[in-house]
Amino acid sequence: MRRNWCPNMNHRRSDPPVRYCPTCGEAVNANILTKKCSDKEHANSRMDMYKYCVHCGLQLIT
Ligand SMILES: [Zn+2]
Ligand SMILES: [Zn+2]
Repeated sequence: MRRNWCPNMNHRRSDPPVRYCPTCGEAVNANILTKKCSDKEHANSRMDMYKYCVHCGLQLIT
């Protein structure tokens, strides 16, 4: 169970534009369907310093 305070603003929005929080990987909007990502998308997310993929919740940086 993750109970750490997460600074990502998606947790405070009523309708976040992404399914997963890029900072902690928690699902922030269950209404958005999980997407099948390509390696390129994950590489782009890594360059944006995202710890988790916002589309599929995969951990990008360990
Ligand atoms: Zn978070
Ligand atoms: Zn992904």
